[in-house]
Amino acid sequence: MTIHVQERDHFDAVCPHCNKELHAVVAVKLSASILSKRLMFCCPHCGKVLGVMHRKGLLAS
Ligand SMILES: [Zn+2]
Repeated sequence: MTIHVQERDHFDAVCPHCNKELHAVVAVKLSASILSKRLMFCCPHCGKVLGVMHRKGLLAS
């Protein structure tokens, strides 16, 4: 089975909590250092957490 990836610049994503269209997300910086960065993404409508990103390495910042 092959899963194709569709890369798009614009996509009407919907918040799984309040079902409103997401034209923006709120990114909250949890921690940041030279080698690591943690961001939390929240819905701007209901404020619920959509996901957490943890980036490591020299491209973290
Ligand atoms: Zn929401």
